[in-house]
Amino acid sequence: MVCEIFFTPGSCMSSTSRTLSLAFLCMASLFLITPSQAQGKRKAKLADRTILIVPFKGAKKSLVKMVADTIKKAYGVKVEVLEKKLTPSKKGSKERRRFQLENVSKMLRINPAGQSLKALEKKVVAALKKNRSPVAREILADLARPQYDLDVLIEQARTATAERMKDKMVRGVVAVTHHDVGRGDLNFLFAGVTKGVSVISYARFKDRSAAKVASRLKKQALSTGGYLVALPQCKGKSCARTYPGSIPDQDKKPSTMCKACRAKLDELWDTSKPK
Ligand SMILES: [Zn+2]
Repeated sequence: MVCEIFFTPGSCMSSTSRTLSLAFLCMASLFLITPSQAQGKRKAKLADRTILIVPFKGAKKSLVKMVADTIKKAYGVKVEVLEKKLTPSKKGSKERRRFQLENVSKMLRINPAGQSLKALEKKVVAALKKNRSPVAREILADLARPQYDLDVLIEQARTATAERMKDKMVRGVVAVTHHDVGRGDLNFLFAGVTKGVSVISYARFKDRSAAKVASRLKKQALSTGGYLVALPQCKGKSCARTYPGSIPDQDKKPSTMCKACRAKLDELWDTSKPK
């Protein structure tokens, strides 16, 4: 899942014209079970498959466990939380920061051309501090934390689980981080999946209410976990896996899968429990 921040052209810091738009990046080139395969002697049992849960350093243990429990319960797969925590690589973080600063520069009418990262950051932060709007405060809070490159983290999780992924009964990987992540020209993302390995970031889910954080993360776990069991993106309007247009949209979504997703899951897999 990808969140992209857009600024209305010509807007200034005092306006509240910033809109959030979420665009789903479905890079789930997964081990898709085709209907013809499913029509064989018997469908593969999801209860025999395992999804590995990989915590990045700093990810809250209780939230990592909740991601694992959510996926286990919703999809009937085995889950295994790996003990070894990964230290997130900062490779690509400087590029992420430059991208963020250049985006904000446009809004502040600062020309970023030819400026060092340090100089640009100084100018941007000074301009934002002068502006007391909620949007400026929000951007300052964003800039106060580093942003990691999602693809770098995905590849870290892939390398760390490469041996386990050779086992065909291991269906995929969900790595969890509290760090903010971005990719390409997208300002930030909630999660991403590439070839069976995913990373979920709950940085943007943070809230004073722990229940709200858990609820947002649970919906993301359902969505990401779905891709790992070959469920396509849900086009339904009332489903935990529906594409959200914003954080408020994420909050409005139900915390369970819709009937269409369940039906698709049953079509692809034998979801019955082992006897
Ligand atoms: Zn659905």
